[in-house]
Amino acid sequence: MDTLLKTNNQLEFLIHGFNDKSALFSTVKHQKFGTRKSCEKLGSRSCFVKASSSALLELVPETKKENLDFELPMYDPSRGVVVDLVAVGGGPTGLAVAQQVSEAGLQVCSIDPLPKLIWPNNYGVWVDEFEAMDLLDCLDATWSGANVYADEESTKELDRPYGRVTRKQLKSKMMQKCIANGVKFHQSKVIKVIHEESKAMLICNDGQTIQAAVVLDATGFSRTLVQYDKPYNPGYQVAYGIMAEVEEHPFDLDKMLFMDWRDSHLKQNLELKERNSRIPTFLYAMPFSSNRIFLEETSLVARPGVAPEDIQERMVARLAHLGIKVKSIEEDEHCVIPMGGPLPVLPQRVLGIGGTAGMVHPSTGYMVARTLAAAPLVANSIVFYSSSDHNSASGDDLAAQIWKELWPIERRRQREFFCFGMDILLKLDLQATRRFFDAFFDLEPHYWHGFLSSRLFLPELVFGLSLFSHASNTSRVEIMAKGTIPLVNMINNLLQDKD
Ligand SMILES: Cc1cc2nc3c(=O)[nH]c(=O)nc-3n(C[C@H](O)[C@H](O)[C@H](O)COP(=O)(O)OP(=O)(O)OC[C@H]3O[C@@H](n4cnc5c(N)ncnc54)[C@H](O)[C@@H]3O)c2cc1C
Repeated sequence: MDTLLKTNNQLEFLIHGFNDKSALFSTVKHQKFGTRKSCEKLGSRSCFVKASSSALLELVPETKKENLDFELPMYDPSRGVVVDLVAVGGGPTGLAVAQQVSEAGLQVCSIDPLPKLIWPNNYGVWVDEFEAMDLLDCLDATWSGANVYADEESTKELDRPYGRVTRKQLKSKMMQKCIANGVKFHQSKVIKVIHEESKAMLICNDGQTIQAAVVLDATGFSRTLVQYDKPYNPGYQVAYGIMAEVEEHPFDLDKMLFMDWRDSHLKQNLELKERNSRIPTFLYAMPFSSNRIFLEETSLVARPGVAPEDIQERMVARLAHLGIKVKSIEEDEHCVIPMGGPLPVLPQRVLGIGGTAGMVHPSTGYMVARTLAAAPLVANSIVFYSSSDHNSASGDDLAAQIWKELWPIERRRQREFFCFGMDILLKLDLQATRRFFDAFFDLEPHYWHGFLSSRLFLPELVFGLSLFSHASNTSRVEIMAKGTIPLVNMINNLLQDKD
């Protein structure tokens, strides 16, 4: 793991966010990549693969932490002002809410340990999602559609434009608006919140205390302040991605590669092939030019998550098979996204949005478009319930009203259905996964677009997905068989969840 430790932004999260890493990742029965010792023990084939993983990882540069060139107006804790809102976490979600609440004239403080840092994750979104939020200027590349390879024979062309978010532009845009609206920044980590009747005190790790009427936890998957009362048992999407300069690649420049489930690259390595048949990974790629491409090997969802070393080994084998020779790596990303699991306690005094509030799509791991779309909802209700007509309500009542807007019954039911989808995906091996997506992408675009973008709600979801009219009989039987227990769980949860 030393190579990983050198490079990554997400491992910090892994180490600090999870107490038991062995429970998080399935173990791979081999040693670290590329050491001479492991080569001697593992025989020539394994040695070749691990040596090549090591060669790839050696191209990864030291992490460059790039900051935005802004003078930030800083919060002055010595003045003891009680602000209307503290947004804890300056990721896309926290900043979006800070921006919109401050636009209404409320006093907002944004707390983040690295407020100027350009976000590290490579975000991909469907173009229509960003268009609906007037954010097309925050995409630096778009593709007219996406390709899905189920296997060697079957390719699907998805007629839905896809885009890559320019993190610098999106963050700059939000920060500029925040600054113009008078948001103050505090560079620190919140470690604790203490609630009083009408305000809360946030204790930061620099020893400062900040007081606020409303506290929003937007700390992503670290779930810092939001409380859960059920065991946390998510599935994990794990991926390893590189932004690379390559000699050449075989992909169409006009299409992004949404999923490549082919496994012909594993023919020579039966052990890896067998692992991949049980818990498959796919390649996701955004080709920017004939020699610049983002490549990410991804395990869609598994419990426990697939080990990062395993993912890298599969990626190296795939790139070699596709004839992709990596000349240099601009940056890499280690992606671990908890998916599904219980919702936080509803309602509770601290508000939550994004990963901390269960908003990642449980069947896909996508979240950025959904949370940016939810930000105005949260912001408007904070503004509404903080206004002089309503601010006689206690902090608890105010928070309860806002949680209701964020997780109304239709959204909770929708999430139950997505978790049901995830529970089925968790049980599918490679062949079944291929059949599943073959049928899924044969649905009417209204259904698969709506499912992936969280736009469909329960009656329509069930109706839509029962339209697996193109699914083979094998696939239908499989989904019925693997889905029976998750279906019963979903129905139970739906019956228990009342408004
Ligand atoms: C590598 C990777 C790639 C991804 N790619 C996609 C994608 O392509 N499309 C997509 O839709 N989703 C993607 N996701 C999911 C992604 O996490 C979200 O879409 C997005 O980052 C969520 O934004 P956020 O603001 O909720 O959380 P984050 O972006 O995680 O931001 C949380 C912020 O809170 C700060 N913070 C944490 N703890 C504290 C504390 N105690 N006090 C103060 N601040 C704190 C952190 O430093 C961070 O700045 C990806 C995730 C990862 C990890």
